[in-house]
Amino acid sequence: MTEARANPRPSLAVVKIGSAVVAPGGRLAVETVQRLADEIVAARRSGTRVVLVSSGAVACGLEGLGFERMPAKISDRQAAAAVGQPLLMRAWTDAFGERGVAVAQVLLTADDIDFRARFVNAHRTLTTLLERGVVPIINENDSVSFDEIKLGDNDRLSALAAGLVGAGLLVMLSSVDGLHEQGGSGAVIGEVSDIAAARTHVSGDRTSTGVGGMATKLDAAETARLMGADAVIARGEQPGVLGRVLRGEAVGTRFPAPAGDLPASTRRKQWIAHSIRPRGVLVVDDGAARALCEKGASLLPKGVVAVEPNEAGGFGIGAAVEVRRRSGETIAKGLVAYRSDEIERIMGRRSDEIERVLGYTYCDDVIHRDDLIVTDRV
Ligand code: GLU
Repeated sequence: MTEARANPRPSLAVVKIGSAVVAPGGRLAVETVQRLADEIVAARRSGTRVVLVSSGAVACGLEGLGFERMPAKISDRQAAAAVGQPLLMRAWTDAFGERGVAVAQVLLTADDIDFRARFVNAHRTLTTLLERGVVPIINENDSVSFDEIKLGDNDRLSALAAGLVGAGLLVMLSSVDGLHEQGGSGAVIGEVSDIAAARTHVSGDRTSTGVGGMATKLDAAETARLMGADAVIARGEQPGVLGRVLRGEAVGTRFPAPAGDLPASTRRKQWIAHSIRPRGVLVVDDGAARALCEKGASLLPKGVVAVEPNEAGGFGIGAAVEVRRRSGETIAKGLVAYRSDEIERIMGRRSDEIERVLGYTYCDDVIHRDDLIVTDRV
């Protein structure tokens, strides 16, 4: 943990607002929504465009469905989200509308971020909205998401959104002041550079309407940092909080990204490592494992000993897979250049045999090193 430093105002920020801020105890906090809309409009005037990630759909829908507290059953929560999402959007639409600003609803599932084509599409949509001066308001598409395609929590979604739009800052506004020191004074830690060490300060801190907690916020901060964005956790109920964070004032807990802009190739690898869900596993021999880990080499068909798709239909070109040693240890993640059934046919063979076996060849590698990230170095 280091001293606070000067933080340049970002030109683009993702602001995530938790359920406990927007709809504490399941009631839409209209004044808070109005105030935050004010602060986002002010931020835009001062040169920071904002993508909003708003939780609260489930919380806003509880009352309408007759639930007094958060139900345990997923289908009940999904139904609540279906009721609450339009109420939530109405509140934001009205609040921004009164300030002359249009908003857009963008509902995402993990699949939208996992698949390169949809990812690119989502990126284009968000960029277009921002260019047109509209505030995009993202939430998870809760009423259709099920386990396999669920992002799980909006902290994670907001970090992925920061990567998606290339934001310089992720602000997570929640019902806590920041990360508190465990033991000692219990004071808020101003700046964290070592997230692993910061995890020792996490205690069970879920609110009754919130979904995440400090642990998911630290995960999100870590993902954001790896994608080159600073992250800040601060209390959303404090008036003026967003302006203060954007001006780089010491408020909440800040997780500065490593200095310097990340090259595009690194951002891409971080995206592979953190955003995309693996569709299967490639097991490799010791020689290939060494070449990947020690030399940063591409994965050749020769080194593959088994192909284990997650789904019966196998995986396609461009799918993300985990690369494991025979012992089961995961050493890398990457995007494959061949389909799973093709890899099964060429594994164990030299690259110059690919054409003879398949009748065609795309490239010499099963995973090119530009599409491969060794996970123990992430
Ligand atoms: N998407 C959920 C909602 O809007 C919240 C998920 C979260 O806060 O992490 O209610």
